[in-house]
Amino acid sequence: MPNTLYIDGAWTTAQDGDTRDIHCPANGDLVATVDEASEADTVAAIEAARRAFDSGVWSSVPAAQRGALLTATAAAIRERKEEFARAESDDTGKRIVESRIDMDDIANCFDYFGRIADSEAGRVVDAGDPAVRAKIVYEPVGVCALITPWNYPLLQTAWKVAPALAAGNSFVLKPSELTPHTAILLMEVLDGLGLPAGVGNLVLGAGATAGAPLSTHRDVDLVSFTGGLVTGRHLMANAAATVKKVALELGGKNPNVVFADADFDAALDNALNGAFIHSGLVCSAGSRLIVEESIAPRFVDELVRRAQAIRLGGPYDERAQTGPLISAAHRDKVTAYVEAGVAEGARVRCGGRWGEGELEKGFYYLPTVIDQVHTGMSVVQDEGFGPVVTVETFTTEDEAVALANDTIYGLAGAVWTQDAGRSERIASRLRHGTIWINDFGPYLPQAEWGGFKQSGFGRELGPTGLAEYLEAKHIYHNTEPAVTDWFAED
Ligand code: NAD
Repeated sequence: MPNTLYIDGAWTTAQDGDTRDIHCPANGDLVATVDEASEADTVAAIEAARRAFDSGVWSSVPAAQRGALLTATAAAIRERKEEFARAESDDTGKRIVESRIDMDDIANCFDYFGRIADSEAGRVVDAGDPAVRAKIVYEPVGVCALITPWNYPLLQTAWKVAPALAAGNSFVLKPSELTPHTAILLMEVLDGLGLPAGVGNLVLGAGATAGAPLSTHRDVDLVSFTGGLVTGRHLMANAAATVKKVALELGGKNPNVVFADADFDAALDNALNGAFIHSGLVCSAGSRLIVEESIAPRFVDELVRRAQAIRLGGPYDERAQTGPLISAAHRDKVTAYVEAGVAEGARVRCGGRWGEGELEKGFYYLPTVIDQVHTGMSVVQDEGFGPVVTVETFTTEDEAVALANDTIYGLAGAVWTQDAGRSERIASRLRHGTIWINDFGPYLPQAEWGGFKQSGFGRELGPTGLAEYLEAKHIYHNTEPAVTDWFAED
């Protein structure tokens, strides 16, 4: 693997020679040393993307041919699945079985955008004048800055790179500085498949330096960002100066509403999955359990018992069911989050501390259930981004909906009930971008993903996920030009 930047069709070392060590969060082992871009490197990448876009070398390629490259990308990822999955697990500490599932989902995403690349043929508009041919055509936006987080590094990247390329754009990709490797592998694949130089560029490095020009440089037309709320606000403010298109996929504090008539075992199992898969490092994690009062004691007792039994371990530990947090700094953040809840009066039913023994080599935090909370508390309002679930109770449908909507976020939510009418009523009243009924967590490449409220705006996946990377242009053709005499001379 090159472990360098990829700019203008060439693997390129950072101009000022900076590097960064990548350690596996499961055990602290050194994974690799990679180049660390400066602002100047990123500007060079943006300029290469601009030149490539303006030359038409990719945007003028027939859309079906662009789609074929995405289909070939999917095939290459499937072929090298184990290598990709290991790179993802070594960077993130995520269990290898989860990384393998991610790689399947990523290949499916490339396939999907490969299939729909030529689906947007524009439309003819009736101008009300037989001499006029008016049409709407869709064109690529231009140079796209694609900025991604560390929790699902290549998945979040695929959701951006695939539609950006399908639509004919050029891009500069900046993965999280903590998890660069699958982005490097992806660029290797695109390079091998003959993506023209400058169309896809990769910069590695910290947000404040390597990332900074991506939201300020005048040659960037669109910023698509997945990450934290504070960073998203900052990027949006920066992008305002040059009026860039912006798409933000931010955090969530996602309600999982369980009614007394729900299938108890399925709801319980999914409450565990929602909260603790990938140690809760999931933007749509079910971190806010809202359960009907009549079943709450039994449901929460079982949740606590099962959470305590979850086995933690590294990517290749076959007994492990979930893994570490990404870094010591992130574990400190989760620790402070839980402590703030306790200081406000919440009760920790299980977890609330770091992993011990063998787990001390990595950044493990035990699955944590917190009750005796109310909506005014920071543990209920803020995203914890760790294996932490809060429990609230309700007695009426209206109360459940009010609780489930009562945060600044609106990414995803679930409702569990066997009453179909009630589930549909609640699905329509929840202010979240994805609603699961009697399930938790699935997403589909053909279904839009994104947030309401401060979980962001713009959509990834689905036809709208492609439309984000297109501009509509109206072409009005008068086939019988004539004098209007508006300014007729006397
Ligand atoms: P983060 O905001 O710290 O970083 C995300 C990316 O932004 C990284 O690549 C980082 O280097 C970059 N960055 C930071 N400052 C920057 C700047 N000034 N200019 C340009 N780039 C900059 O987020 P994170 O900690 O990596 O990821 C966790 C967050 O991501 C959580 O809040 C989670 O909910 C969110 N997330 C959301 C979704 C979604 O679909 N809505 C999916 C995954 C993760």
